[in-house]
Amino acid sequence: MQNKTVRDYIRTIPDFPHKGILFRDVTTLFADARGMRLCVDQLVAPFTGEKIDVVAGLEARGFILGGAVAHQLGSGFVPIRKKGKLPAATHEQEYALEYGTATVEVHRDALQPGARVLMVDDLLATGGTAKAGIALLERLGAEIIGCAFVVDLPDLGGRAVLEDMGMPIHTLCDFD
Ligand code: 5GP
Repeated sequence: MQNKTVRDYIRTIPDFPHKGILFRDVTTLFADARGMRLCVDQLVAPFTGEKIDVVAGLEARGFILGGAVAHQLGSGFVPIRKKGKLPAATHEQEYALEYGTATVEVHRDALQPGARVLMVDDLLATGGTAKAGIALLERLGAEIIGCAFVVDLPDLGGRAVLEDMGMPIHTLCDFD
């Protein structure tokens, strides 16, 4: 297909990780040279010319995007990781999953108070993961300039949750 959009490169896998779930698989976007370039260019577009000290990426696909976005913006990169992976002293934040809870962590010395931060992940669904990441960054004293995602699933309400918190949200495409 000529002039494929970012959305066109994303593959849908039915019944992953559970029956009834349509998983939006971005590995096909990342694996394509044009797709990857398009995606990173579009993620950074609203923030070029802004002073961004640090891009914070949510594990794991947010690391792939976050590193590329940080390089393009001339920023540092900070990982927000699942519990137990970071070696130095951390802050942690628990959040609700469909069944149970999960915890994410950030190094306590990952950034300076007042640092201007862009948070990046592949997909926004309920917003639970992103909210936990925002809570950690705010605990470090970050000024969050925005949150950028490749995919929004608007029916799951995450965008509305983050916008109600006053977060500028940038997404590249939607799926039902
Ligand atoms: P939320 O916390 O907003 O409900 O879910 C978003 C998080 O779950 C993101 O970190 C994202 O990587 C992951 N996620 C949930 N569903 C999907 C999906 O269909 N595709 C991909 N690529 N990630 C998903």
